[in-house]
Amino acid sequence: MTLAELQELEQRYAVGTYVRNPVQFVRGEGALLWDEDDDEYLDFLAGISVLNVGHCHPRVVAAAVEQLGRLTHVSNLYYTEPAMRLGKALADSSLGGKVFLCNSGAEANEAAIKLARRARPGGEVVVVHDAFHGRTYGALSATPQESKQAPFAPLVPGFVIAAKTPEAIASAVGERTAAVLIEPIQGESGVHVLSDELLLAAREACDRAGAALIFDEVQTGMGRTGTLWAYQQTPVVPDALTSAKALGGGLPIGALVTGSKLADALRAGDHGSTFAGGPVVCAAALVALEICSDPALLARVRKLGEWMRASLAELAGVSEVRGRGLLIAFDLAGGRSAPELAQRALLEQRLVVNATGPVTIRLEPPLIVTAAQVEEALARLTRLGL
Ligand code: PLP
Repeated sequence: MTLAELQELEQRYAVGTYVRNPVQFVRGEGALLWDEDDDEYLDFLAGISVLNVGHCHPRVVAAAVEQLGRLTHVSNLYYTEPAMRLGKALADSSLGGKVFLCNSGAEANEAAIKLARRARPGGEVVVVHDAFHGRTYGALSATPQESKQAPFAPLVPGFVIAAKTPEAIASAVGERTAAVLIEPIQGESGVHVLSDELLLAAREACDRAGAALIFDEVQTGMGRTGTLWAYQQTPVVPDALTSAKALGGGLPIGALVTGSKLADALRAGDHGSTFAGGPVVCAAALVALEICSDPALLARVRKLGEWMRASLAELAGVSEVRGRGLLIAFDLAGGRSAPELAQRALLEQRLVVNATGPVTIRLEPPLIVTAAQVEEALARLTRLGL
């Protein structure tokens, strides 16, 4: 179908929750995408940090296709090997406890909130300014952004908002606190790296209060920042973390991973989801997790990220660069509009990037991006007058 035909269908039949760019993608490979006219695009968004292994990674595709042809779904009333193996791989890769599988980032955070409340019944969940944890009611209640919350009040009670300072977090946490839920790097609000001091203050406050420190690694995990999990570059180990996005190598999955302390807090019947831990997505995730754990790949992510940030900082049209590894954002100087620049990048330069705010552009290429592709992306940005 042509783009015009799709737009007509959207207008007539799609609930209007998304603002789409006028491009139809039909094919992807590595860090490249093609539209219906076979024009090639450089993808520096990776489906919002989902395609960390690149589009259609042959090993991910093979694992998913093989599993799809053998057994697609049986529910969690029975055992399947991919789900059990993925639980072990996730726990071994991080906190060593137990794993609850689900289908998205919001769902992973819902599970985390329930875990925390199970451990401390009736307890509060402390979140920080500018956080984004998802759109379902629990996750939305943990996302203190007026525009996202206000139309849907009343929200779930028991969420406390703290400013992003060590002092504010320390004073927000007390004996009523069940958990502090926090992104080590806030992706959706424009890639704000939270300081080690702040994370340490959260760790200490949780230890003092007997509360759980939960890292939302939905965007920062799976190698995005140059280690498999972002907490591994901080002085803090959380009690649990959530993952999603890149975990499925392009297919939908989420996970809550606990440390030993919270491993048995949720019990039989406490939580569940029909599709959770399905064999096809778990087979894909096992491969994606293995690829993203490769030390050589992670070293490249750190090196390419440093180079990209340094190169962006030299551009006259850029006022600030933030990030870690290949989770990068920059602010535009001189009041230029980021949404407008992102659309021009797409339509004029065939470069896929995304605006997270009025002046902020976010870059999240697949982790397998080549140095030549990074150079090309920088050249295309420069051609837009940066
Ligand atoms: N948490 C973080 C840090 C995210 O960046 C996102 C999505 O952008 C979510 C949670 C929600 O994930 P999902 O869209 O898969 O529900």
